[in-house]
Amino acid sequence: MRLTVAGSGTAAPEADRVCSGYFIEDGGTRVLLDCGPGVVHHLARFELPWQDLDHVAITHFHNDHLGDLPMLLFALKWGVDRRRTAPLSLWGPAGLKERLTRLAEALGDHLIDPGFPLTVREIEPGATAELGPGLELRTAKTPHTDESLAFRLVGSTAALGYTGDTGPSEGVARFLAGCRVLIAECSLPDDDAIPTHLSPSSLAAMARIAAPGRLLVAHVYPSLDVLEPVRLIREAGWRGASARAVDGLALDLRA
Ligand SMILES: [Zn+2]
Ligand SMILES: [Zn+2]
Repeated sequence: MRLTVAGSGTAAPEADRVCSGYFIEDGGTRVLLDCGPGVVHHLARFELPWQDLDHVAITHFHNDHLGDLPMLLFALKWGVDRRRTAPLSLWGPAGLKERLTRLAEALGDHLIDPGFPLTVREIEPGATAELGPGLELRTAKTPHTDESLAFRLVGSTAALGYTGDTGPSEGVARFLAGCRVLIAECSLPDDDAIPTHLSPSSLAAMARIAAPGRLLVAHVYPSLDVLEPVRLIREAGWRGASARAVDGLALDLRA
């Protein structure tokens, strides 16, 4: 399993980061977790095979996590060298189909009929879906929006966890336990902590339960970024390996 960070940012526009998007290749299956604004261009910038995506999985319906989905489908219809025939599956919480239908009314039919087989699959918290040979997507509810999910991708060589957006939750931490890499949101400073996002102290507590091989700290708002979140998470009690997620970072995940 190989992870490339296509976008590690937030709703706050930044020069060197775009919104959330994580590209994973495992045994020939290509998956994008979230598709926030800017992600499609970063897939091209980092020379990732965006034309050959098999699955796109969306954690929740905030704009910074799915705003580039219309662009991706537009690009796959009109921006490719040769016409795509391979199927694409879109995964997301209940309500995804209705939102795509409404987006199609506003932006065009490419959202529901891009010229190749498009399957929209709504996935419940606690479900498991097979994405390819030896590659499973598992989900859990997060305390963020009514529909928000965390993802656990279990592949041929390792498991990868992604909190999506979440507030503090022992249940989410247990769901993500033992992953080789855990991509975790850490939105705000402890002084501004809210129940629907993580801060260094709450992420440190969850990381101690989840105990990933490596913690990738992402979705950090500028007010926290200037305070060095990785250092703060360490001081709050998570002593394992951790790093700030950076757009373009690529990691091979082995067991
Ligand atoms: Zn959100
Ligand atoms: Zn977000």
